[in-house]
Amino acid sequence: MFGKTRDPVCAAKVSKHSRYFSIYGKRTYYFDCPACRATFEEKPERFSGKGKDKSFLERLAGGDDVRAPKSCHDMKH
Ligand SMILES: [Zn+2]
Repeated sequence: MFGKTRDPVCAAKVSKHSRYFSIYGKRTYYFDCPACRATFEEKPERFSGKGKDKSFLERLAGGDDVRAPKSCHDMKH
């Protein structure tokens, strides 16, 4: 899937042309809104899958029943 990725904070599909992105651990993460980017940048290790805990997206891909963390979509913007 070229050109599309997922917002690691809220799991929304997001284009790699998104204006909102952050580079962490040699990877670029894309976000659907500045609120998600701000959440990621507060604690990037929580979303990147670094460390011993799987990232939200890895748990999602692994079929775990995970609930999206509190995200931009809980807010009006
Ligand atoms: Zn989002």
